[in-house]
Amino acid sequence: MRHETRTFVAGQWVESRGEALHLVTNPATEEPLARVRSSSRADVDGAVAAARDAWPSWSRTPPAERAAHLSALSKALAARRDELGSLITSELGAPLELSKRVQAGLPVAVLGSYAALLADYRFEEQVGNSLVLRASAGVVAAITPWNYPLHQVVAKVAPALAAGCTVVVKPSEVCPLSALLFAEVVAACGLPRGVFNLVLGSGPEVGEALATHAGIDKVSFTGSTRAGRRVAELAARDLRRCSLELGGKSACLVLDDADLARAIAAGVAGAFQNSGQTCSALTRLLVPRERLDEATELAVAAAATFRVGDPLAPATRLGPLVSASQRERVRGFLVRAQAAGARFACGGPETPAGLERGFYVAPTVVVGADPAAEIAREEVFGPVLCILPHDGDEHAVALANDSDYGLGGAVWSGDPARAERVARTLRTGQVDLNGGKWNVQAPFGGFKRSGLGRELGRHGLEEFTELQSLQR
Ligand code: NAD
Repeated sequence: MRHETRTFVAGQWVESRGEALHLVTNPATEEPLARVRSSSRADVDGAVAAARDAWPSWSRTPPAERAAHLSALSKALAARRDELGSLITSELGAPLELSKRVQAGLPVAVLGSYAALLADYRFEEQVGNSLVLRASAGVVAAITPWNYPLHQVVAKVAPALAAGCTVVVKPSEVCPLSALLFAEVVAACGLPRGVFNLVLGSGPEVGEALATHAGIDKVSFTGSTRAGRRVAELAARDLRRCSLELGGKSACLVLDDADLARAIAAGVAGAFQNSGQTCSALTRLLVPRERLDEATELAVAAAATFRVGDPLAPATRLGPLVSASQRERVRGFLVRAQAAGARFACGGPETPAGLERGFYVAPTVVVGADPAAEIAREEVFGPVLCILPHDGDEHAVALANDSDYGLGGAVWSGDPARAERVARTLRTGQVDLNGGKWNVQAPFGGFKRSGLGRELGRHGLEEFTELQSLQR
């Protein structure tokens, strides 16, 4: 087992001085993978001080030079993509192909997108007699979850650095190893010291020490709605800037003129990617009532293509959940759903056959749930899809919008204009029309309890700026 006591502060590897040790477990084998020492409060102070010292010079570094650093980071990360993919599979359990392509590939693309954006982004504009500047927000605390462990880090670090901010990152204690590897890449790329710093440890201890630190100008948080609310409350005490990327219960609306087979196959894939541990997972499939049986059959067939098992096996499409507690949480939702009258068209809370070791849950399609029931409203964060019938476009939109969340969504229709009309009425941050592809430059984030602010692209960069007007 690996023993990790290092962290990265002021351009150097330093020993962590916290007392807590976090065990990282391989979710496919249940074997311990690493023991990671937490940062102490003094370590957090040191990391924030390093970021503050680095800020004046980094914020004045010309954008083209900042872009060159981001481009170098992107290339260096790309060179270690296979290694990163394997590491993320071992700490998270995502199938290896997904880890390489998405978990490791997306951060490469995001860093590259900000290097490109800086080539023509204008940090100033003339408005009447004012010169309006986008000034760097300052020193950023980036707190991230385990489900896309490196992407979540890079989706904050890349725009923050692009905007001239310096950062202190605290990754999830559940999957911290890819962030340590990223620090190795930063160290090798010669980023000026103190621009990127890493602290490790739990949310209540290290996360809160960082989020409430007087040296932090802006907190950028991704994680659960519960922890996000706490971080926002803490930030409000000092009126500190805070952006939040939180949970979701996104709907895939299949209209009555849609190509049902294509829509259902894509909807199921949107629900089960990363074992359903995706904040924008399409976990509610809304289908025309008269086609409910047909849609259910198609969903069961699509679910069957999500072969569950060893994430290192090439045929696997569904790895384990990240931890025993996450699996228990998901099983609890399923047991309660059944007790409330729903049934499973496939899957369910039982351990999938032959997978007694590892935190596996079978791909599960839930039918017959009341739209007001817990399973149809709460974020499950597992391979669980809830099919609900609708009685036309208006009803589908009402069902989709009847949610505390508003992160992602999808609309399928034979008529693109109709799909777009429906999409415009959805109260969510993103909607994919007829399988429209993920866009690394499009703002990502939520309405309602899915968060505050946006990540990625130009809009994501602007979250790390303050507006300043100079009247002449
Ligand atoms: P979590 O909220 O438990 O933890 C997220 C991060 O916050 C971790 O680093 C954790 O240590 C830290 N944290 C926890 N409590 C804290 C506190 N009181 N103060 C400061 N930091 C604290 O979430 P998780 O279980 O790691 O991730 C799963 C959740 O993240 C899901 O709800 C999912 O929807 C959400 N998520 C959202 C997005 C998005 O972009 N909207 C992306 C990925 C995940």
